[in-house]
Amino acid sequence: LNNEQLIFVLVAILLLITLVVIGVLVYFGHRFLRLKELERLNQIQKSTKETMEEIQDLKQVDKTVDPELLKALRAKHKDTEHLASVCVDHPDEPAVKRCAISGDPFCEHCITRQNDTWVARKYLDLFLDSDWEELMMLPDHKTEHDVKTRLSKMKSDLWKKKGIPVIIQSNYKINVEEDEIESYTVVVVRQEDRNYVKKELSFVH
Ligand SMILES: [Zn+2]
Repeated sequence: LNNEQLIFVLVAILLLITLVVIGVLVYFGHRFLRLKELERLNQIQKSTKETMEEIQDLKQVDKTVDPELLKALRAKHKDTEHLASVCVDHPDEPAVKRCAISGDPFCEHCITRQNDTWVARKYLDLFLDSDWEELMMLPDHKTEHDVKTRLSKMKSDLWKKKGIPVIIQSNYKINVEEDEIESYTVVVVRQEDRNYVKKELSFVH
């Protein structure tokens, strides 16, 4: 090899290395941009979904209701929920909602929303395969706090000791005469448990 040939080989090697480096940079740069774009799309999708859910929520109530008032009512209800900080099945995951069937707090991976009811995925079959009916509806302003406490204790006992699911929900109704929103506690049970739960609920009247 003479000097001229050596230089030629070196230049060729340098050129090759430069090409490889450019290739790698372009590949990762492209990947990075794609990830950014995906993240942005996810964000848009998420906020659209949230807005849709809010609209859905509002649609279920009479349109004349002031959304601010409704928001305040919902916030108040949330405050009284006392959500534990972690999922019962994943101690590392923050809990987002309580399951309407078991009453336990679950993370976002473990719980799913069915219309207005949050149900743990592991109880979804039970929820979907059952025939539910409203057993009673208690106006909150006429219901003693003690009755509500006993109600939620009864729910928890029936589920833990007998495997009978009882769903306790909050509902809002508009009282046209009084021009205000009234909140109700609604007790929902499976048709086959109706009479049994009704007996257990004798303390309500
Ligand atoms: Zn979980």
